[in-house]
Amino acid sequence: MKKYKNIVVGCGLAGAVMANKLANELNETVLVVDRKNHLAGTCYDYKNEYGITVHKYGPHIFRTNSKEIWQFLSQYTQWYPFMHKVLGVVDGIEIPIPFNLNSLRKVFPTQLANTLENKLIQTFGFNKKIPILELRRTEDKDLQFLAEYIYNKVFLGYTLKQWDYTPEQLDPSVTGSVPVYISRDDRYFQEKYQAIPRLGYTKMFENMLNHPLIEVKLETDFLNIKETVAWERLIYTGPIEEFFGYKYGKLPYRSLDIKIETFDTDKFQNAPVVNYPENYDFTRIAEYKYFLNEKSDKTTLSFEYPENFEVGKNDRIYPILNEANQAIYNRYAADAQKMPNTYFIGRLGAYRYYDMNRTIANAFETFNIIKNKR
Ligand code: UDP
Repeated sequence: MKKYKNIVVGCGLAGAVMANKLANELNETVLVVDRKNHLAGTCYDYKNEYGITVHKYGPHIFRTNSKEIWQFLSQYTQWYPFMHKVLGVVDGIEIPIPFNLNSLRKVFPTQLANTLENKLIQTFGFNKKIPILELRRTEDKDLQFLAEYIYNKVFLGYTLKQWDYTPEQLDPSVTGSVPVYISRDDRYFQEKYQAIPRLGYTKMFENMLNHPLIEVKLETDFLNIKETVAWERLIYTGPIEEFFGYKYGKLPYRSLDIKIETFDTDKFQNAPVVNYPENYDFTRIAEYKYFLNEKSDKTTLSFEYPENFEVGKNDRIYPILNEANQAIYNRYAADAQKMPNTYFIGRLGAYRYYDMNRTIANAFETFNIIKNKR
């Protein structure tokens, strides 16, 4: 029986970061297994026949305020500095998303826009971010009108498509991550560091895992090999409920049916991502040549059609955050706590809606716990 100091289940961001640190900083052997036939989990990208780098699981834009995280990744990639912008089609007009003072001016006549802008600034202050569910609680009649407009035109349709729930039925953090922004900053994110790996995410993962103490086995299910290998420590980034044999029931996820299409035109849309809260069955279209400024006389797009996760049909992409699901997760987490030398991290291990930055932070925290225990 082959023996490893560590087994890491899952070769997405959480797993790759952990494997890297265990090998580099603790000098320990690591076996990384993943069911898929590629590295990088949902960060996986590839260059297509038209020279355009496509994100297979939908657009990924890296951003962080943490110098530590930025410097860590910078060992494994050069960066293309990229400030993400999103437009949303509302009443047929393209407006900046998150909804901000520029969006306000695009959809309302000048006098009304002036009134609303002044009230927003007086009530909340300039450069403030207000979650839509908070704006809806305002008492002022004009701001109530504005809140209902934004809620109905930007959030309700999109959220129903994305989650099959209304914003109120989900944890407030879900829509809170795209707040109304009382500012003229049209960027989707405000973090200090924002960029795309210049040679793609997959290459960055290859570099992160390129270490003599790390062995990676793809198309390998942990459940099938666990009787044939021995380990002292297990880092599990797969679905926690599967690890425990679904003993407390399933944890629900949303998935995406992503249709990737190439159009015979130089450019399709006016921003890297355009959201469609009101029209169509897809939530958004990403146009990939924007992300690394790649030149081609064709353009490759992805259309995201959200759907429920079902075993064997699609991938777990988004944990559905609400109280009922959190209660199920908490039972699994309590069992996980009792398991010696076993750590559950990442979106699926922790059943959290982590972005890339928070996934890495989660891996760093867990690594520090492991390091301090030795
Ligand atoms: N959202 C929305 N309308 C938009 C953009 C976002 O209603 O135009 C809501 C929606 O519920 C979405 C959530 O905000 O799922 C988070 O959006 P984000 O773009 O961060 O989602 P992700 O990129 O993780 O899919």
